[in-house]
Amino acid sequence: MEPKPNLTFSGKVALVTGASQGIGETIALQLAAEGLTVAVVDVQEEKLERVAQRIGESGGRAYPFPADVSRLDQAMTVVEAVIRGHETLDYLVNNAGITRDNLLMRMKEEEWDAVLAVNLKGAFNFCKAAIRSMINKRFGRIVNISSVVGLTGNPGQANYAASKAGVVGLSKSLAREVASRGITVNCVAPGYIATAMTEALPEDVKKAFLEIIPMKRMGTPADVAQAVKFLLSDQASYITGQVIHVNGGMYG
Ligand code: NAP
Repeated sequence: MEPKPNLTFSGKVALVTGASQGIGETIALQLAAEGLTVAVVDVQEEKLERVAQRIGESGGRAYPFPADVSRLDQAMTVVEAVIRGHETLDYLVNNAGITRDNLLMRMKEEEWDAVLAVNLKGAFNFCKAAIRSMINKRFGRIVNISSVVGLTGNPGQANYAASKAGVVGLSKSLAREVASRGITVNCVAPGYIATAMTEALPEDVKKAFLEIIPMKRMGTPADVAQAVKFLLSDQASYITGQVIHVNGGMYG
């Protein structure tokens, strides 16, 4: 990965949550390859440091910020540290997410709360932490990672689907609040993407997913990262409050 100067991103700073693996890691790698300085956020410090190191070794700039996205105080501390260290935070990608699947009838309160805390409140926390500085400089781009099931629903995922539908509502509302300040807020809704999250699914569920994807293949983290990169770019400056579906034709 040889970083190439991209005028859109030149001298700018991005923050990506859930960046130690899967889709978040690929987004961080691709943004660093575009010449952005990337603050990578995740819970496990060691994994995060390895990603930052990998980006550094390939000529990019990445700085690890271990944090739990479900904690507003931690989100505030991370964003303050990024702005203090790099003078700006221009791009925010809320990607951290978890699943705790169960039929609603059996779902424990903790399973509901944990998923909503990371997937929805986590996005709220980092939007809240970043938005004031973006408003002050009249520039910002936010991409929140939703999911196809936030729009279709999915049995066994009432908590996850609710959190991902919530992310769409959060993004569309914030988009309207800050549109006049040069800030865009959009969602990318991935379908069935090959990562540790989907690797954990039972074989019959994986097979059933493949059957309903018109393209008959899983997506890759790079498929998602390309859509994120587009929404962050100057080419997307008149697009806000939207959901881009990256799902091989499953829905949208
Ligand atoms: P993943 O491989 O499980 O990666 C998610 C990352 O988020 C992990 O590094 C995880 O750390 C981190 N994370 C979890 N809780 C966190 C917290 N409280 N604070 C900070 N970081 C936290 O998942 P993925 O498949 O790349 O998914 C990335 C995003 O895309 C998620 O929002 C997911 O819902 C969404 N998505 C994925 C798919 C798919 O098919 N894969 C489809 C639609 C949407 P630990 O590993 O330490 O928990």
